Amino acid sequence: MFYGKKKKNDVRELLEYGGSRKWLTFLGLALSALSMLLTMIPYICIWLAARDLIAVAPDWTRAENVPQYGWMAFVFAAGGIVLYFLGLMCTHLAAFRTASNIRKQGVSHVMKAPLGYFDANASGLIRGRLDAAAADTETLLAHNLADIVGTVVLFTAMIVLMFVFDWRMGAACLLSAVISVIAMFSMMGGKNAALMAEYQAAQDRMTKAGTEYVRGIPVVKIFQQTVYSFKAFQQAIEDYSSKAEHYQADVCRGPQSVNLTFTEGAFVFLVPAALFLAPGALAGGNFAGFVTNFAFYAVFSAIISTALARIMFASAGTMLAHTSLGRINKVMEAPTLKVPKNPQRPHGNKVEFKDVSFTYDGGQNPALSHVSFTAFSGQTVALVGPSGGGKTTAASLIPRFWDASSGSVEVGGVDVRQIDPHVLMDQVAFVFQNSRLFKASVLENVRAARPGATRDQVLEALKAAQCQDILEKLPEGMDTQIGTEGTYLSGGEQQRIALARAILKDAPIVVLDEATAFADPENEVLIQKAFATLTKGRTVIMIAHRLSTVVGADKIIVLKEGRVAEAGTHAELTAAGGLYARMWADYNQAAQWKLASEKEAE
Ligand code: ADP
Ligand code: MG
Repeated sequence: MFYGKKKKNDVRELLEYGGSRKWLTFLGLALSALSMLLTMIPYICIWLAARDLIAVAPDWTRAENVPQYGWMAFVFAAGGIVLYFLGLMCTHLAAFRTASNIRKQGVSHVMKAPLGYFDANASGLIRGRLDAAAADTETLLAHNLADIVGTVVLFTAMIVLMFVFDWRMGAACLLSAVISVIAMFSMMGGKNAALMAEYQAAQDRMTKAGTEYVRGIPVVKIFQQTVYSFKAFQQAIEDYSSKAEHYQADVCRGPQSVNLTFTEGAFVFLVPAALFLAPGALAGGNFAGFVTNFAFYAVFSAIISTALARIMFASAGTMLAHTSLGRINKVMEAPTLKVPKNPQRPHGNKVEFKDVSFTYDGGQNPALSHVSFTAFSGQTVALVGPSGGGKTTAASLIPRFWDASSGSVEVGGVDVRQIDPHVLMDQVAFVFQNSRLFKASVLENVRAARPGATRDQVLEALKAAQCQDILEKLPEGMDTQIGTEGTYLSGGEQQRIALARAILKDAPIVVLDEATAFADPENEVLIQKAFATLTKGRTVIMIAHRLSTVVGADKIIVLKEGRVAEAGTHAELTAAGGLYARMWADYNQAAQWKLASEKEAE
């Protein structure tokens, strides 16, 4: 009666997150139902007292039971409050556990997602979804369900009381309650549900457009594109405004007026009914009983109003259940990295791509198609080529940021998908262009690669990564917190700290995405030195943007539009006169220009 079939399942699904405390929700609901029954008993006591008093009027002293009824009313009212309190305690305990389980299970699921998942789904977004879902679920389970159960009990009891006292006056009270409930749900059901969905969708679009607008402010400022950027946002606002107006005026106005009128005036039918019945009661000779019944319903109609008002909020809560569950499921839908049942150990440090193709989720063209190459143990293989050629994608497949769509990536002769992820992570160190540092000390940042490392080992790695100058200028050396109180590091400096991290890890295979963005001359020299330390004696897959770094590579793979366009050593490729030879010529020309302009500047 109070919520559709679909929503009931949503609530049930949410309850599953309660785990071992799920039963507390049911206990809490039972207590809350019982409390509603107890709360109603004082009204019956009032009726009993009124009946006795009227029977002996005006000789009041003969109504000996009245004090007893008073005490009964007090005890039951107090008992009702205590039970309500206990019930809410149970539902809260369950709700808190449920909310914390939603967070825990969401996070532990996301932990199993391949690293690449976090490129598309920022961790802030994931956290936001879980937080919102947990908060809404908390309100629903702690308060709303108990209120719904209380109201159901109230309605049932009203029907029973109708027959106990005067069914005609009871029916009059019930009638106004029924009208207000029908009006309330007519706003939500059928065709109106679709309208409401549209209204909510318009609201979502407006929020998104607003976020986009704020995000785009720098672009708007630089390119003076106010008109265009406003347009989408303005349209979303206007759309929302017209949907909201339509929904309020055409759907809600009538039913809501009826609902509020009958919620607040539960007695509107009671008074006419009483007037209509009065002559009959007078003639029948039991006018005293009639007056007592009327007094009972007149007082009782007050709880009906309260209960109806509560159920309004409660039904909004059950609607939240649907959105909450949607958010949770969105997080739970994150793909998980498949863990091998019988993991195999890699033999040696060879890295081999065997006919590898890969298409991003939702991508039109494959980012890699039929790529094959081998980096033997201790060799350096460079990936070069035009932007968008697939270099970063190829490198990401080695530590399983993604898994190949077809073909296989092998480390030590074993498909990476057959290696225990921990073993693979121990074997491979990677430094990507956008190596992020945590908001922690330099020490913690580097030590993340090997939690057992001593301070001296971390310091050694930092030295090998040419970070002495960074440590010297930081106020507390390697204990300085990064990103707080003005201790920001330049891109080149961050890259060197990331290199220290990789050096400390001391993995036999290194995957490097060289950073061109940070090519200020001072950093460049230092980064090159750090590279040299990191790559010595290891198998290296290096993405190089400055071709000067690849001249000495054992093998150069030229990737273009996801395919291997050319492969060979520097000497072979320059002699072949293909794409690489052209890139090399361009590179040298650019280098000469740079040299010339630097000379001029001197
Ligand atoms: P490169 O590193 O050589 O510049 P990438 O490997 O980054 O090239 O990109 C190869 C292709 O894959 C490009 O067409 C790029 O647009 C696409 N691509 C890269 N990352 C993603 C992603 N996360 N989702 C969808 N497509 C992507
Ligand atoms: Mg790249």
